[in-house]
Amino acid sequence: MKKIRLGIVGCGIAARTLHFPALKELSHLFEITAVTSRTRAHAEEFARMSGNPVVFDSYEELLDSGLVDAVDLAVPVDLNLPFIERALQKGVHVICEKPISTDVKTGKKIVALSRNSNKVVYIAENFRHASVFWKAKELIEAGKIGEVVYTSWQIWVGMDESNEYVRTDWRKEPKHVGGFLSDGGVHHAAALRLIFGEVEWVSAVAEDLSPHLGGMDFLSTLFEFENGIVGNYTVSYSLKGEDEFEVVGTKGKMFIFWDKIVLNDDVVAVPQEDSYQREFEDFYHVIVTGKPNNLGNPEEALKDLAFIEACVKSNGEKTFISEFLL
Ligand code: NAP
Repeated sequence: MKKIRLGIVGCGIAARTLHFPALKELSHLFEITAVTSRTRAHAEEFARMSGNPVVFDSYEELLDSGLVDAVDLAVPVDLNLPFIERALQKGVHVICEKPISTDVKTGKKIVALSRNSNKVVYIAENFRHASVFWKAKELIEAGKIGEVVYTSWQIWVGMDESNEYVRTDWRKEPKHVGGFLSDGGVHHAAALRLIFGEVEWVSAVAEDLSPHLGGMDFLSTLFEFENGIVGNYTVSYSLKGEDEFEVVGTKGKMFIFWDKIVLNDDVVAVPQEDSYQREFEDFYHVIVTGKPNNLGNPEEALKDLAFIEACVKSNGEKTFISEFLL
């Protein structure tokens, strides 16, 4: 099997703690041949742990080196658009971390770049690769709780100023819509859309409660899917609490956890897999087969972001997601 020569761009938390462990397991598919970061010492440190790829002082030099077939972008979100554009100009495939962009307007430019290129632009949304959400969808489609009427998802992330994500400079003064609300929220939007389909409208309240977290950190929403299912989604990135993801149908209910689904009185265990490893595997297969799918499709990532942007801008008013995608 031909290995893809991969350049790592941005050696922060995601690249070091999420991507590298996944790529280590996929050394039969990818060879890390080049690395760059804003701070050279961070790129050198990454190089030392990843088989000594060539360290470059800038993204431009890495792209010009001829050493990479693809780049892995794990940089502040406002760099996604210019960095994807440059990679495609150089004929290099891209896997880029979520959210697709800072807002839907610039995200649409990435969708257009992707459509007009023969190189792959893959937005890494690991929740679309998490087995538990696919299992929930399967059980629902098998009629295990009858017709779904309602879902409620409450998430209490509980971060404070000591959290390493909170301390990253680009999150302190976010350029991405709603700050943490889009940074984390696109994951939740992806899972909701995967299980239940497209959201038609939302009415939401978004607030900046914590002085320690950049941008907004609290969101509470009421929304309706196109198929008539009604939902609540509430998330706080600063407050602590018990997470709960409930789905209610005409013949029962289910609770979704990371490792299991409690279906009426039964427990359905869900094997744990590394969703980051799965997204890199999928990226490889999309490149070698030339057959794109929806998992890393920029258009899907744009819809995730459109839901969150509609929430942030709703100000309590009923807001149609389609207006953001026009
Ligand atoms: P981070 O720790 O701040 O990492 C960003 C990195 O980008 C830093 O290492 C920084 O360099 C580097 N950088 C900044 N400007 C650059 C430039 N011009 N050229 C090259 N490198 C540059 O942030 P993070 O938490 O890893 O987040 C990065 C991306 O991953 C974001 O899109 C985020 O949404 C995503 N993410 C996804 C998940 C997930 O679960 N899927 C989790 C976390 C993050 P230096 O450190 O060298 O100065």
